[in-house]
Amino acid sequence: MLLEHLNSKLRAIAAQDLSRFLREAESPTAPHQWVRGADGIARELLMFCSNDYLGLAAHPRIAEALAEGARLYGGGSGASPLVSGHSVAHKRVTDTLADWFSAHIPKARALGFCTGYMANLAVVSALGDGDAEIFSEALNHASLIDGTRLAKARVTRYGHADVAELRALLAASTAKIKLIVTDAVFSMDGDIAPLPQLLALAEEFDAWLIVDDAHGFGVLGQRGRGALEHFDLHSERLIVVGTLGKAAGLAGAFVVAHETITEYLLQAARNYIFSTASPPAIEHALLTSFELIESELGQARRAHLQALQQQLAKGIEALLQRHRGLPWQLAPSETPVRPLIVGGNAEVMQLAARLEREGLRVPGIRPPTVPKGEARLRITLCATHTAADVDRLLAALEAAASDMERAAA
Ligand code: PMP
Repeated sequence: MLLEHLNSKLRAIAAQDLSRFLREAESPTAPHQWVRGADGIARELLMFCSNDYLGLAAHPRIAEALAEGARLYGGGSGASPLVSGHSVAHKRVTDTLADWFSAHIPKARALGFCTGYMANLAVVSALGDGDAEIFSEALNHASLIDGTRLAKARVTRYGHADVAELRALLAASTAKIKLIVTDAVFSMDGDIAPLPQLLALAEEFDAWLIVDDAHGFGVLGQRGRGALEHFDLHSERLIVVGTLGKAAGLAGAFVVAHETITEYLLQAARNYIFSTASPPAIEHALLTSFELIESELGQARRAHLQALQQQLAKGIEALLQRHRGLPWQLAPSETPVRPLIVGGNAEVMQLAARLEREGLRVPGIRPPTVPKGEARLRITLCATHTAADVDRLLAALEAAASDMERAAA
């Protein structure tokens, strides 16, 4: 009965062009990667889909640091942090992050998690108790939404970047504790939340601002410290979650906030308390990643990323001018996440499949991840892409646009 039930659900997913499938990478994360497709054949693809924005995942110093960490600490951590899984490497990582963020958050302390998903669940569910009301931005990441589902707090959604609506909701709220929850960089749109305005509202209405900086950490700010550095924000009301599997090139996540908040999470967040700590070798390697993020190499990579972002945006804008018959739109974005909105699910998957046949992997993103009718190619850039890589993508999009316009005529 269960299998029949699931098979009928799977058929419904396929009928809406929403099926997903796994590919297998055979070489390190990099713009040019060997990937085994559904047909079992490995091909070299030019990838525009990784969140390894600084290209650190395959940096030789990270690989060396991981090997050194494995020699020092072995494999797994063996237990949850409060039992015996917390190592000196874990402590050095959270101390470094607390130090980095102390310029933005007074009495900052950091707490480590294995993934950003877990960190978001922890913060939102533990702080969102029965005394709280959560104000959740419409385009928040699934892990923040799942956090609100676990929370006992009342949850109120506000429109994307709609500061006026949020203001009215905060003004009307009688909750003892008010939590504003938002992505810093929206993962499927690439735009940046109006954090200075959100923080001003938090100050005005005695609320707290939980910022998921998964896509900003390492990328935004002169030193790569993320959205807080980008906007030069300072407040004890800031609670920041960052992931370490994207620009930091490894794995894991952190929450950084006023020490009372992190202490409460340590005592009360169930997915901190009841989950095995990350492998210490990863933590050891993260220290090298932090060095690289801050270093001249990190700064040069962020500058190169911005140049690639401009090249791509200019190229797509010119393409859209040439093909006005197509309903494509370039999402406004100031980050390495540069979506091209195509419209229908079938159309975006056909376009993604065509690009893949030509050796380019640009994933099609469909509902429910994005709104209905706004299926898109989620183009992401990494500092290890070259200008020639971006030109190759632009040429492939140009050829696809010409063919699609001709077919529609
Ligand atoms: N927040 C956002 C905005 C994300 O895009 C992601 C990952 N896709 C996460 C959180 C989860 O982070 P992690 O991959 O470390 O679980």
